Amino acid sequence: MSNRNALHTHLWSDREIPHVIHQDGRTVYHHRCVLCGRDFGQGLNGGGWHAIYVGILRIEMLAENVDARWMGDDCPGEPLWDQDQEDRATRRVQMSSHSKVARSSH
Ligand SMILES: [Zn+2]
Repeated sequence: MSNRNALHTHLWSDREIPHVIHQDGRTVYHHRCVLCGRDFGQGLNGGGWHAIYVGILRIEMLAENVDARWMGDDCPGEPLWDQDQEDRATRRVQMSSHSKVARSSH
């Protein structure tokens, strides 16, 4: 996956210093754009940045199609509340550490 880095078009709150959140034994870095309000996190799945939802208690990765879109989009420059509300309601299917497919054969 080679995105040009559209993340640089967002304007992070707290200047360039991400929030650091410890979750499930991981160190997660969180940035929120002050222009569009989208949240991005690093450290949830490998080293890259991902589109995330920041809940009250934990951060969750958004679905892969949303992730791809947010990572590829330039900053909208303003909140897209209606559209992004749907995006934020999505979640990535959590894989176990081995990529085994849970298949019920019968
Ligand atoms: Zn933005």
